[in-house]
Amino acid sequence: MSTPKPTLHRDRRRSREIFDRATKLLVGGVNSPVRAFRSVGGEPLIIERGEGSYIYDADGNQLLDYVCSWGAILLGHANPAITAAIAEQAKRGTSFGVTTELEIELAALITRAIPFIEKIRFVSSGTEATMSAVRLARGVTKRDFILKFEGGYHGHADSFLSQAGSGLATLGIAECPGVPQALAELTLNAPYNDLNAVERMFTQHKNKIAAVIVEPIAANMGVVLPAPNFLSGLRDITKKNGALLIIDEVITGFRLHNGAAQQILGVEADLTTLGKIIGGGLPVAAYGGRAELMDNVAPLGPVYQAGTLAGNPLAMSAGIAALKQLTAPGLYDRVNQNAERLVTGLRKAIAETRVPAQVNASHSLGTIFFTDQPVRDYAGAKRSDTQRYASFFREMLDRGIFLAPSQFEAAFVSAAHTAEDIDRTVAAAVECLKLIGADA
Ligand SMILES: *Cc1c(COP(=O)(O)O)cnc(C)c1O
Repeated sequence: MSTPKPTLHRDRRRSREIFDRATKLLVGGVNSPVRAFRSVGGEPLIIERGEGSYIYDADGNQLLDYVCSWGAILLGHANPAITAAIAEQAKRGTSFGVTTELEIELAALITRAIPFIEKIRFVSSGTEATMSAVRLARGVTKRDFILKFEGGYHGHADSFLSQAGSGLATLGIAECPGVPQALAELTLNAPYNDLNAVERMFTQHKNKIAAVIVEPIAANMGVVLPAPNFLSGLRDITKKNGALLIIDEVITGFRLHNGAAQQILGVEADLTTLGKIIGGGLPVAAYGGRAELMDNVAPLGPVYQAGTLAGNPLAMSAGIAALKQLTAPGLYDRVNQNAERLVTGLRKAIAETRVPAQVNASHSLGTIFFTDQPVRDYAGAKRSDTQRYASFFREMLDRGIFLAPSQFEAAFVSAAHTAEDIDRTVAAAVECLKLIGADA
């Protein structure tokens, strides 16, 4: 199969000119660090529009998109039903700061799909969701410590910025200046998939740990799957020690099926955080759990958390339009089959080209790591040859395929990706792996 001619870098004058202006006004030219392409080199993209599985830069170059707004876009760009819902709502007003029926409708869609979330609070970003869930856990347990995992990412609240994944992994920031030492000391880090380390920390900090927070499938150090007993082990240990289990499903919620990853993985958290997909591409996130627990949040309880734009009607209408589509028969089967086709194709390409690499994947999220060792935790992810990832990324981009501009992120397949898109990606990957294999 012949790979289409490179569509990018043919002409990037307009993008370059816009990015030049961006660097004068925005820090690093961006509003979120990984957009700056620091670890992969090349020039950051300036996107003008998207449609289905494709995005188009300011020079009209077409890119097949596997970033999908970092997982928020499950139904493809400019999904007609979502677009229509937003336009309809915009005509009625964009924000009132008072409850609308839309909030109840989105809450009902979520709690119907994830029944152990009995009550929910909407916020505007995943960061707010995890930060608030931790505050609630500390409030009800009257304990101060939290335990997270190395390479896990739970947004940028102060408590989460040690040994974190995503942009912090990409930029090599292990500890973030600006986080008070006294607060940083309350965050414990264990290696992902290491229950013994978790047990040890609960022994060391007896009756002091409020909560364990975990990604059910780690997706911010690249994709790392939970070992078979890992999540159930965390459930047992937290229960035994009177701590809460917070499962951060900001990426995985509604990504694997119409519900939480927990239902597939056979575990149930005390508190669940959601984001990304539930907003249909607009800023929506949430935290929720059993009613008796959530009722500790203000106004019913003393744990304070608020938001001017929380439950924003425009954002709610987008979320509703997105979630309503997720019950379509065969939708997830198709997404997951296409993802499987991509993973199989990549693994075959790796075997044929003999480039030392691994594909970690589950459902429609996956990562290629350039190492000959299996990747089961952050230490393993960091053994990947990030220079090779950068070369692979750039070669793929030259062929019109946009992967995450960092080794420590997931690639996402959307419902808009077709089998042809996937086959084209695999064909391009074969070429790129041959090239970078020859480099080494
Ligand atoms: C993206 C992400 C967050 C943070 O969400 P924002 O909306 O970027 O603040 C939190 N947790 C996980 C698992 C994420 O992937």
